Amino acid sequence: MGRKYRNSNRKKHQPYSNFGLGKKHITGNSCINVAAYHFEIKQEVIEILKSYAQHKGDERCGVLTGVQVDEKRYRICKVSSPCVKEHTYSGCMRDAIKANKFIEEDYRMSEHTRFYIGEWHTHPENNPKPSAIDYNSIRDNYHTASLVASFLVMIIVGTQTFHLSVYNGNRFIEIEPEVV
Ligand SMILES: [Zn+2]
Repeated sequence: MGRKYRNSNRKKHQPYSNFGLGKKHITGNSCINVAAYHFEIKQEVIEILKSYAQHKGDERCGVLTGVQVDEKRYRICKVSSPCVKEHTYSGCMRDAIKANKFIEEDYRMSEHTRFYIGEWHTHPENNPKPSAIDYNSIRDNYHTASLVASFLVMIIVGTQTFHLSVYNGNRFIEIEPEVV
């Protein structure tokens, strides 16, 4: 789907600046083994995302924040309201300012425990499948954003089911997070 946004990103080789979260920049040389991690998602995140499902109208998109629960466990905790600059039935250009504001405020409100962990957008289909543009958008974000965790989650909200996958800098792995 046609997202061409640049938010929560920084140009390569610039100093870390966004969110005050620039702990490290992950490269493809240090990919995490996604299978070794346990992923959780809060029930309220699922409910909010369901409320954004694209039963009619244009695609919506936004960002996700989460915490590291322990060494091998991450939890998706918060979902932004739609951050839409422009959208169509099959594309959503994210509003960078709105998305970054959500991430910064959530970081502050959580006393620096919740951080940018991924992206969500909708598809007008029951069981959504990522498009080539979806994969490229996440890859682009992974390589340009300041990440705390060494991966990005992609959630696509369908009208019946969600697609959930994790990009570790090398490949996408579908996950079934535990609902908490
Ligand atoms: Zn898509």
